[in-house]
Amino acid sequence: SNIVAIVGRPNVGKSTLFNRLTETRKAIVDDFSGVTRDRHYGVSEWTHHSFTVVDTGGYVANSEDVFEAAIREQVIIAIEEATAILFMVDVTTGVTDLDDEIAALLRRGKKPVMVVVNKVDNNAQQSDAAVFYSLGLGEIYNISSMTGSGTGELLDELVKHFDDEPVEENTLPKFAIVGRPNVGKSSIINALIGKDRNIVTPIAGTTRDSIYIHYNQYGHDFMLVDTAGMRKKTKVKENIEFYSVMRTIKALEEADVVILMIDAVEGIESQDINIFHLAEKNKKGIMVVVNKWDLIEKNNKTTKVFEDMIRQKVAPFTDVPIIFTSVTEKQRVLKVIETAQKVYDNRKKKIPTSKLNDVMLPIIESFPPPSIKGKYVKIKYITQINGVSPMFAFFCNLPQYLKEGYYRFLENKLRENFDFTGVPIQIFFRQK
Ligand code: GDP
Repeated sequence: SNIVAIVGRPNVGKSTLFNRLTETRKAIVDDFSGVTRDRHYGVSEWTHHSFTVVDTGGYVANSEDVFEAAIREQVIIAIEEATAILFMVDVTTGVTDLDDEIAALLRRGKKPVMVVVNKVDNNAQQSDAAVFYSLGLGEIYNISSMTGSGTGELLDELVKHFDDEPVEENTLPKFAIVGRPNVGKSSIINALIGKDRNIVTPIAGTTRDSIYIHYNQYGHDFMLVDTAGMRKKTKVKENIEFYSVMRTIKALEEADVVILMIDAVEGIESQDINIFHLAEKNKKGIMVVVNKWDLIEKNNKTTKVFEDMIRQKVAPFTDVPIIFTSVTEKQRVLKVIETAQKVYDNRKKKIPTSKLNDVMLPIIESFPPPSIKGKYVKIKYITQINGVSPMFAFFCNLPQYLKEGYYRFLENKLRENFDFTGVPIQIFFRQK
């Protein structure tokens, strides 16, 4: 659970670095669905460390007069919420007053900070960059986020600040209820555990001060990662979204199952879809709860229409449970946690190798991979690899000839035969 925030004045190049860090083939695919354009957070990976990057520049205040206040507050929020902070400055402008102010806040915070000097494109600028030692934040990292030079060294140092060890002793399932403000997150938590906040247990020694609520009733025993209860006032209203996104990412990273709650009246919006994709990329269990169902005028097709609309928007990963609730009328509240538990079990599921081969090999034999340039791919053996989420290795003679279409086919067949509802699965083709 590592969150890296990029902070700094506008125009220093934060989003260029963000794009560079989060750019993957996958992101390009996502762009076709049109959901990643307004994305200010994304998953990045460096030497097997995966982390979420947040570009604070995506949350800029519109009005001039709150602008600097908003940036200062973003820095404070980043200090509270992030694992490490990349403080970006611009070699072509030197140290500005706002840089000095941000540095002062960062020096007081207790999080690791790396000063990233951007736009260093030539040797003269290398030596100009030295003025940024005056920020009093230690080592500086010269980069050009445009060409990518220096980013490798930066990332090598950055990942040293991560703690990738699972610190939890606690092995109970962890569920996080996430969603936009006012969808009913607090209400459902109250409906489940009552107003008796004595049950709220901040577990000492867990990853960075998250609040967990222990739920142990009706045969269910799990932890809720509480984001709703920790709502903090931001002084600058433009930052409400930034704050809620930081909290959501954090809860999401700590959870086994992400319960994405949407408001039936408002429908599913791009922010919800972004969260959904973030959970998917993090290989979390996912389910969708459509709350305030009482406010919808219904006929016998309404549920189906809603379901289809949601699945279409979250595609291609559509094999997720969708539950319709009314928290105020206590409809299907328990169904939500039963379903979360089921998704959790699906994510932990191990299919015995013999069963996997007995089911999948005949299917593959009936629908073999298409031959390419006269070459035939023969899949000989399948096994599930150990991991936190389901992964399957298909051993074959020519793995390089297997294409996206056949990948999807195999994924669908695994889903049809073994029920991985709510769980992203991964398939690897290996040389036999
Ligand atoms: P949060 O910001 O996601 O924690 O949302 P809250 O739990 O504070 O709920 C926001 C508002 O929606 C409150 O006024 C709730 O009473 C209301 N609300 C929550 N669930 C439902 C529901 O199922 N139906 C209706 N009609 N209102 C609801």
